[in-house]
Amino acid sequence: MSEVKEVLGVFGPGSTHWVGDGFPVRNMFPSNGIEVNPFLMLDYAGPTEFKPSDRPRGVDEHPHRGFETVTIAYQGAVEHRDSAGNSGTIRPGDVQWMTAASGVVHEEKHEREFARQGGTFEMIQLWVNLPSAQKMSPPRYQGILNEQIPHADLGSGSYARIIAGELYGVKGPARTVTPVNLFDIRLKAGSRVELSLPVGQKAALLLLQGYVLVNSSQALTGEAQIAVLGAPGEGLVLESKKDSTLLVMSGEPINEPVASYGPFVMNTQAELRQAVNDYNSGKMGHLH
Ligand code: MN
Repeated sequence: MSEVKEVLGVFGPGSTHWVGDGFPVRNMFPSNGIEVNPFLMLDYAGPTEFKPSDRPRGVDEHPHRGFETVTIAYQGAVEHRDSAGNSGTIRPGDVQWMTAASGVVHEEKHEREFARQGGTFEMIQLWVNLPSAQKMSPPRYQGILNEQIPHADLGSGSYARIIAGELYGVKGPARTVTPVNLFDIRLKAGSRVELSLPVGQKAALLLLQGYVLVNSSQALTGEAQIAVLGAPGEGLVLESKKDSTLLVMSGEPINEPVASYGPFVMNTQAELRQAVNDYNSGKMGHLH
C-alpha cells in the first residue's frame, strides 16, 4: 500500500452543551483546537434517551450564511423547515445537505411522532466551509434518503456508506461545492480495512462507538473520539477490536481567511456585519 497518512493526534470532545433544547451535543471541533479545513464544526448529538413529549424539542428559527450544514441521522428523527421553502424529515440513515450560501433561515426540531413516543436520539451535524466565490450563491437543499446512499463492501460484513466523494469506485450522491469525502463506516469486530483518501487533504476519523486501531499506532476507544490525519500520504488502515461505527471525512482545503460569528462564516468582519444586517432586515427570509 502507498504511504499512509500520519495520525496527528487523537482527541475527545472539546465541549459538551445543548443546542436549543433538543440536541445534547459533544463538540468534536473546533472547541478542542482541532483544525480540519474545509470543515468548520462537528457536533455529535446523543445517543440520549428522550421521554415522550407533546411539544417537539429542538432549535427555533435561526439563520446561516456562508457555509453548508450536513445532518446525519443515526437514531430518532428531525423535522426541518426553511425560508427557501424546503422541508423534510431526516430519519435514521438519511442525510440532509443544506447549502446555506447567501442565507437560509430554518428550524430544526425533533419529529412530532418521535417526540410523542420518545426514544433514543443520535445525530451528527457537520459544517462545511464554502469558497468566497460561492458564499453568496443561492441556497441549495439536498434531502438524501438512506436507500439512496450506496455501500462500499469492506469484507467480513463491514461496509462504508458513501455519502459524498468516492471509495473503491463507489460514488456518493451528495453534490458538493468543492471536493469532499464523507463516509459512514460500520466495522465488524476483528476487521482490518484499508482506505484511501486524497493526498493533500487533511482527514478526520470520528469514532461514534467501538474500538479501532488506526495505522497500527493510535487507538480510538469507547465513544466520541476523533483522530486527525495529515494531508500528505493517502492510506489509512483500520483494525476494529469491537463492532464500530465511524465517520470519516476529508476535503480539498479552502485556503482563505475565515471570519465567523455564530451562524455566519464569511471571509471578513465587514461581511459578518452585512450578514447580521441582512438577517435583521429580513433579507434571508422567514418561516411561514
Ligand atoms: Mn441550523
